[in-house]
Amino acid sequence: MAELRNCKECGRVFQYTGISKICARCQKKGENDFNIVREYIYENPGATITEVAEETGVDEDKILRFLREGRLEIVGENSALILECERCGKGIRTGRFCDECAQELQKGLKDGFEKTMKKKERPEKQREKMFTAERKKRR
Ligand SMILES: [Zn+2]
Ligand SMILES: [Zn+2]
Repeated sequence: MAELRNCKECGRVFQYTGISKICARCQKKGENDFNIVREYIYENPGATITEVAEETGVDEDKILRFLREGRLEIVGENSALILECERCGKGIRTGRFCDECAQELQKGLKDGFEKTMKKKERPEKQREKMFTAERKKRR
């Protein structure tokens, strides 16, 4: 028996296949929106997100989502930078972080991982000391 669910976009009941949370119609519309936006940005580099939304009739939120997902990239050298790095606030063209922060974060993740590995080897007492020192600092 196919499972029936409500579409996340339009709320209509559809057959849930375990892949998408939106109905086929909205999925198709989403693809259309994406293509329209992509084409518009390609033809009008430098357009702001508001302009793009107005001209294409696609929600700003949706356009932002395309950009955040990295599916859409702002083209053109002088394009109005409409995305900000979530870490440092620098204008970026696509994704969530600027190149530097992305690199830092990747490094940080690796460091964090290595620290966790080392922590296991550390004697209990030293860890306790560090913990108390940190608590004192906060007071
Ligand atoms: Zn729908
Ligand atoms: Zn950054």
